[in-house]
Amino acid sequence: MTIKKVRVRFAPSPTGGLHLGGVRTVLFNYLFAKKYDGDFVLRIEDTDQNRYVEGAEAYILDCLKWCGLLPDESPAAGGPFAPYRQSERKSIYREYAERLVRQGHAYYAFDTPEELEQNRRDIPNFQYGHAYRGGLRNSLSLSEHEVDELLDAQTPHVIRIKVPVDERVVFHDMIRGHVAFDTNQVDDKVLLKADGMPTYHLAVVVDDYLMKITHAFRGEEWLPSAPVHLLLWEYLGWKNDMPHWAHLPLILKPDGHGKLSKRDGARLGFPVYAMNWFDAKTGELTPGFRELGFLPEAFLNLLATLGWNDGTDQEIFTLDELIEKFTMDRISKAGAKFDFEKAKWFNAEWIKKSEAGSLKPEVKKILEDKGILATDEEYLLKVIDKVKDRCVLLPDFYQQAGYFFEQPKEYDLPSVKPKWTTAKTEFFRELISGFKAVDKWEELELETLFKALAEEKAIKAGEVLLPFRIMLVGGKFGLHVFDIAAVLGKEKTLDRIEKALAVFVA
Ligand code: GLU
Repeated sequence: MTIKKVRVRFAPSPTGGLHLGGVRTVLFNYLFAKKYDGDFVLRIEDTDQNRYVEGAEAYILDCLKWCGLLPDESPAAGGPFAPYRQSERKSIYREYAERLVRQGHAYYAFDTPEELEQNRRDIPNFQYGHAYRGGLRNSLSLSEHEVDELLDAQTPHVIRIKVPVDERVVFHDMIRGHVAFDTNQVDDKVLLKADGMPTYHLAVVVDDYLMKITHAFRGEEWLPSAPVHLLLWEYLGWKNDMPHWAHLPLILKPDGHGKLSKRDGARLGFPVYAMNWFDAKTGELTPGFRELGFLPEAFLNLLATLGWNDGTDQEIFTLDELIEKFTMDRISKAGAKFDFEKAKWFNAEWIKKSEAGSLKPEVKKILEDKGILATDEEYLLKVIDKVKDRCVLLPDFYQQAGYFFEQPKEYDLPSVKPKWTTAKTEFFRELISGFKAVDKWEELELETLFKALAEEKAIKAGEVLLPFRIMLVGGKFGLHVFDIAAVLGKEKTLDRIEKALAVFVA
């Protein structure tokens, strides 16, 4: 027996932004493929033209690029099974639908949308299936002659699967184990629409087969569709080539009640999409993790832990570690609650862990957006190294690092003025002279000099430390104050003390 090369696919419909659950599906696909030296395919399932949204495909690709999860085959990269956009494969599918009709596993249905609407109104819980199909206008109920006539007259029609009565469809899911469905609960899904486009159900099976997909990961919400797909694999005679299924656990709202939706994000104040998504039709902007200031490494890390763990307490993983440690038996069946505080913790850990050099482009941009041009690269790297442990989201670099590049625009005067004394003015005047004479401009030197002067002047160091900080940064934040002075350098430190002093004594 030859061992097949592992081939997985992410098969999104381009209908809008990419939910974090979608990116987790990509990640698990990717980890599995890379672990077994396989191929990761991106296939765009755009057969539902009514739900097609301009720009959504490019957005999906951008998300994958940002995350560093690039497909081996895709509409953009091409590949041996191109095209990878189902709308461009339209001509492929009819043949399979017709084959199913010939074999008696599918049938033509001529019911008009109005007739179906009427049925839905008249019959509670109407489903087009074994209970009613005998009385509807289709090739099961009409005579062969009538059907031929309708077909010859090019009467609009669809092709539906004929789901068998009283059967059980079973399969083995890599996460859920044995899964069984009662066919009496499954309706006769449309396979080919009146316009000749396949539906998702037919296209997904045909393409997974033609593209030689060996393992199919998708969200749990697709489980109800599985019996239709299994029947199609069987009826088309491809059962032995069917991929191994893995229906991934849902990502739940923070309180564990139900699937995390786009609306929950807006309600609870955190992103649900990978990147900002702008809907041109509604003018609505849905915020993304990227724009909020997440590192892609942190985003992937947090997604990996939503429904998976390696069996130890380890929480921080690089992509390479994930590839090495990922195993299917450690994916849980239960839904995973999303916790935004935990998500931010991952980001803070990743910022800490990152080299200043790799953070530099993002930080530079954040400062630039605030009008700060950090041209001295070495100084910028030094500052990033100093403050990165204090940043949770990338924009925090502005508050934590901005003051190294620009003088305070305003001072927290209420924290200084009421307690200001002439003794303090004296102290800072002498501090300026003392600092001017310092040769070794280092944290410890500055602190020693500062404290010695306070003692000499009989001022408690605590009383002048806060004003000193406010002189340098404007408020009650930032690094250890002598560390700030050391990084700023002599000239800037003296300049800031002098400027602030003028304001404080005024
Ligand atoms: N086109 C489906 C989606 O939009 C794919 C489901 C599957 O992976 O089978 O998610």
